[in-house]
Amino acid sequence: MATEAPPPEEADETPLVAEVIAIGDELTTGQRLDTNSQWLAQRLTDLGLVVRYHTTVADDLQANVEVFQNAAGRADVVVSTGGLGPTADDLTRDAMAAAAGVPLVEHSELVEHTERLWTSRGRAMPPQNRRQAQLPEHARAIPNPGGTAPGVDQTVGRCRLFALPGVPAEMVDMWTATVAPAIAAKTTRSRVTCHWLVKCFGAGESAVEGMLPDLIARGRYPLVGITASQATITLRVTASGADEAACLAAMEPTLEEIRTKLGDLIYAEQPGGDVEIELSTVVMRLLVGRDAMLAVTEGMTGGLLAHWLIDADAGRNILTSTSWSANAVTTTRASFTHHLAIGNARDGVVPIEVITPQGAVQKDIQLVGHPSIQRPLVAKHALNLLRLELLKQSQ
Ligand code: ATP
Ligand code: MG
Repeated sequence: MATEAPPPEEADETPLVAEVIAIGDELTTGQRLDTNSQWLAQRLTDLGLVVRYHTTVADDLQANVEVFQNAAGRADVVVSTGGLGPTADDLTRDAMAAAAGVPLVEHSELVEHTERLWTSRGRAMPPQNRRQAQLPEHARAIPNPGGTAPGVDQTVGRCRLFALPGVPAEMVDMWTATVAPAIAAKTTRSRVTCHWLVKCFGAGESAVEGMLPDLIARGRYPLVGITASQATITLRVTASGADEAACLAAMEPTLEEIRTKLGDLIYAEQPGGDVEIELSTVVMRLLVGRDAMLAVTEGMTGGLLAHWLIDADAGRNILTSTSWSANAVTTTRASFTHHLAIGNARDGVVPIEVITPQGAVQKDIQLVGHPSIQRPLVAKHALNLLRLELLKQSQ
């Protein structure tokens, strides 16, 4: 049976709680997508920390002071990105000092370092760049090999704050060289966190959740999350351990329970982080080795299914022909062993048909949900009908 609480070897080791702060008007106005937070959160999670908040804040001093104070009061590790530049809207250093109630202190070695960088480019350092040599009292600089602005490494109470630049390449380099090793040294034991994905199709998100009532509970271990994207349901199982094998072993009872309860709603399983497996790929894999020739006729999906299948065919030439039909389901004249057909919508219903050497199966698909997902939904239903037929025949 799946365990409800962390395994004993882990019980004494509560994970460090982390928080990510992204700073900049270009982010809060929506001009630029905050990809730095996503990157940082993935890295922190990889190191075994639990990221509890992401905050995005404008270039506003008071707002930044509040954000840093809140974060320092509730997290073990905070990583911020942006606002370290030399201009008047770069306020991260000032905010960190004010949040901790300490003054900014100029460091002569940082002034010299910055001046040298400018001299080596044959220019004099602009006076405002002197700001970048200031750090909150007792804080340390994080070297920035790719730019002029050093980062800030500051301890406030029991919280360690790392401020990195907004320029993604500089942020990544400084994380890798300095921040990641510093955080790894804080964690008592090296642990990894792994995810395993169970991909499902054929029932709605709440129906799937209803079939797994005890598994999708917050605080459960291993954690099971559920997300839906265009009617594909993904269960994400998360466990941590000394290594990947230990994570997978910790997940196994939970995965067994999921497999028993969901049966053939599950079309694939895979490690988290890989490109997610689609129904079209699974159907093509099932057709390999059957000397199959697949023909597709599409009405309301207008070629979407053919497009997916061509990608999934990967040069195996299983897909022999595709055609578009304005009428209801009709078969193509090309030679084929398997046929997938999608008709046109009538009264909110789309007929689909699967033909295999063993016979034909039809189904009516009710159009539900937002119009933007109806075509992919119908195309997936057609793929799933063929998948289930192929599974029956291999039994
Ligand atoms: P720095 O601390 O390096 O001076 P900054 O906030 O002053 O950072 P900006 O001039 O605002 O830097 O941004 C530099 C570049 O980095 C811009 O192209 C900006 O869009 C990008 N950038 C800043 N923050 C982020 C973020 N959170 N996600 C993705 N890109 C970002
Ligand atoms: Mg900025």
